[in-house]
Formats: sequence, C-alpha cells, structure tokens
Amino acid sequence: MTFEPMLGLHVSIAGSPDLAFDRAQEVGATTFQIFTRNPNQWKFKPLEEETVSRFREKRKKAGFRRIVDHMPYLPNLASPERSTMKISRFSLDEEVKRCDALGIDYLVIHLGSHLGKGIAVGVSNIAGACNEAIAGSGGATSILLEGMAGQKNSVGARFEEIRGILDRVEDQSRVGVCLDSCHLFASGFDLRNEEAVDNTMNLFDEVVGFDRLKVVHLNDSKGPLGSRLDRHENIGEGKIGRKGIRSLLHYPGITERPIVLETPYKDLDTEKKSVKLVRALLS
Ligand SMILES: [Zn+2]
Ligand SMILES: [Zn+2]
Repeated sequence: MTFEPMLGLHVSIAGSPDLAFDRAQEVGATTFQIFTRNPNQWKFKPLEEETVSRFREKRKKAGFRRIVDHMPYLPNLASPERSTMKISRFSLDEEVKRCDALGIDYLVIHLGSHLGKGIAVGVSNIAGACNEAIAGSGGATSILLEGMAGQKNSVGARFEEIRGILDRVEDQSRVGVCLDSCHLFASGFDLRNEEAVDNTMNLFDEVVGFDRLKVVHLNDSKGPLGSRLDRHENIGEGKIGRKGIRSLLHYPGITERPIVLETPYKDLDTEKKSVKLVRALLS
C-alpha cells in the first residue's frame, strides 16, 4: 500500500460547496479546508438537501479521507459578554450541524478573546460552547481548537490553555487540536530547524498529547519569532523558512494528519507551485 499524505489548501466554495473538490484536485491536493458560509457575516442560508447530496457524492468520487471546515471569523466563543456569547454559541451550534450534514470530519475554531476578564474565564466559556454544540448535534464532526498567535487577551497561545479547554469538554471523542505553524511561531515557539521543531512538538506532546493533534495548518510567518503577528507567508518565504517547514513535516506522525496551506489565493499557478513545493519538502 502506498502512503499518500493528505495535503491540501483552503479552497473557495463559490458556486457550490462541492466545487471545493474540483478546485483542490485541480492543483494536486488530496484534502481541503473550506468555509461553509461567508466568514465575515453572521447571516447565512441553510444548506439545501441537493447541495448536501452533491457534496457527499463528489467526496466519494474524490476519495478524500479527511476534510476540514473553518469557523467564520465573527464569533468570539471566549467572550464574557452575554449577547456576544449567545450569538457566538448559536453560530458554532449551527456550524457543527452544517459539518455533520456535509460529512466534514473537522471543524477548526478560533478561541477568541476574554476581553480582559482573564484566561480562566475564556477557557471555561469556550469549553461551555463546545459542550453545547456537541450535545446539540448527532453527527461525528470533531471540533478542533486552533492554537492562536497570542494577540492581546486572546486565549489559546499557550499549550496549557488548550489543554484546559480540552479537559473541560465532556465528549472527548469529538474534540481535538489544530496547530498552525505561523501562529506557533508568532506566539514564541521556534520552528526554524530540527532541534527547535523537536523542542516545540515534544512540549506539545507533554502538555496536550500528540494524539490530540488532528490537523496542521502549514503557513510560513511574515512576523519574527514571538511577534504575536498573525500574518501568513508563502511556504519557505517567511521567517520560519524552508528548513523549518521541512523539519516540521518530518516530525514523526505529522504527515498522518491533513496538512492545509492557508496562504491567500493569488492564482492557480501559485497554488499548484505551493502544493508541489510541500510535496518536495515531504520527500
Ligand atoms: Zn484559523
Ligand atoms: Zn490557521
């Protein structure tokens, strides 16, 4: 049996969600991440039955083992403010249901800001939101907590915070972690060479547990180590560099997870090149 890594990128669903499969395959990807709705709006339309069946059909044909959805940007699941909490939780509840319907394996969420109320408040609010959303859905989609870059008041830049949220989720089978290399680097975890990657990932294993890692966002970083800047750069062209990205890809077990590139779309050729470059770094 040949081992085909799940390598993909964030793709658009413009036109219809099932077109994500075509867009991914066109550039040589074997997985993808999508937004199932406009990430910059609260409003959304329910999924139609036909859209769902076309999506599931297409997936069977494509044979993608795992696919990923990303939560819209507006919700703040850590928020201590009642009205924000309510609308953010509603948004997560609905997103998990959309993933269930489409058969999407993983829903990546940002952990949000505690708005100055402290990490403990944020951690507890996020866990509460996850518990509510999981209880309200009968599907199999797992919520993945994405490690953050460490902007002011944000939750989830430290592994202990991620662990704290995981520990408070009742159904452990439906929660996991997504690590973003740019966020890691920006929040102060060095990844520029093999030794640095080993140190960072071994620490993650100690504090959170490597088996909790389900998806890797592979991005280089525009900002330097510890800059707390969430600015993605093309692979090999940022402050992490090729050597670092290659080291991360070769950390044991990484390639068993979907690896998703999140650089902003420029054109088809650039996407093809990025996927090819990562494939080269993998070998
Ligand atoms: Zn993200
Ligand atoms: Zn990311």
